[in-house]
Amino acid sequence: FAPWNDPNAKPYIQFENVTKKFGDFTAVNNLSLTIFEREFFALLGASGCGKSTLLRMLAGFEEPTAGRILLDGQDLRGIPPYRRPVNMMFQSYALFPHMTVEKNIAFGLKQEGMPAPDIAKRVAEMLKLVKLEQFAKRKPHQLSGGQRQRVALARSVAKRPKVLLLDEPLGALDKKLREETQFELMDLQQNLGLTFVVVTHDQEEAMTMADRIAIIDKGEVMQVATPAEVYEAPSSRFVAHFVGNVNMFEGKVAERAANTTRITGATGAQIVVENSNDTAAGSNIVFAIRPEKIKVTSKKPADAVNALEGEVYDVAYLGDMTVYHIRLDDGQIIRASALNAARVTEDPLTWNDRAWVSFRPDAGVVLTR
Ligand code: ATP
Repeated sequence: FAPWNDPNAKPYIQFENVTKKFGDFTAVNNLSLTIFEREFFALLGASGCGKSTLLRMLAGFEEPTAGRILLDGQDLRGIPPYRRPVNMMFQSYALFPHMTVEKNIAFGLKQEGMPAPDIAKRVAEMLKLVKLEQFAKRKPHQLSGGQRQRVALARSVAKRPKVLLLDEPLGALDKKLREETQFELMDLQQNLGLTFVVVTHDQEEAMTMADRIAIIDKGEVMQVATPAEVYEAPSSRFVAHFVGNVNMFEGKVAERAANTTRITGATGAQIVVENSNDTAAGSNIVFAIRPEKIKVTSKKPADAVNALEGEVYDVAYLGDMTVYHIRLDDGQIIRASALNAARVTEDPLTWNDRAWVSFRPDAGVVLTR
């Protein structure tokens, strides 16, 4: 499933040069974005970046100041929320406290004038979908946070919208339940065959669930890509920092050979990286490399192209992996991580030991912005 790589795939949701102003303040700035049918799409960004505003415009609670939003080719301008084939699930869930679970789920269907037997059938189907058959007669206050979240979800998909919008859907759940629910949401989206657009500030959540992620900053799209691309090939320092942990070597391109480029770091250290379009001699660049791409050893590895010496600054054992901070002799602190399962034959390095960090020329990316 990768319609974004198919030049013939039909766009489903299109933001075309959309701007949204609140008075003098520009919340969304000339933003364009395409989402495909059945995609699980995440809008990821820090608080205030404009991601909820994008969702609210899609739902019809706000209209763009300029630009247009199309759904399946139709311009949505002027179409009221209840007539859009879109439903929104809010973080607060907004369940009716005095109604049972089944009445909560049935509410929208009743309003639509669906005949009672059909409502009963659809409600049963939805209860099964979110595994709440046993809880049909309970009221929201008699449910756990995770169960309430599932009722809200059942209610928002009961009307069979084509697109489900989720604004921080798991924000109220604790870490463990949130992780479980992420997988449930993915299954649900697959089973229903709907397009999901989720707003979150949590990069792990976006990485786990989404087919593609748009990283938003100050009302603009910084990058749109699959989780793996965003992580492995961030397009800017902002994205590299926002998603996952990263080490940055500031430097200048000293020399460009056939396949590799030598970079002189701000503190004089030399590293060699794979050529990229951005490595013209003399240019200022940043080499961004993820912690797990860095090896930590007590001796200088004989075959390493890039090896920098320093001292173990701290070590954190996290169960599945160990994280090292190494203070290089030039003062820069490097984060390196190693899976513990892969570490059995490695050096047992500890605090204040002398250590070498090494990495391959193709282990990171060169960034110019
Ligand atoms: P959060 O995660 O905190 O909800 P967000 O990225 O979803 O943040 P938005 O809710 O889209 O951010 O808001 C983007 C910016 O627009 C914010 O600075 C916010 O203060 C502003 N804004 C949103 N709605 C309005 C409004 N109705 N009037 C004025 N300013 C608004």
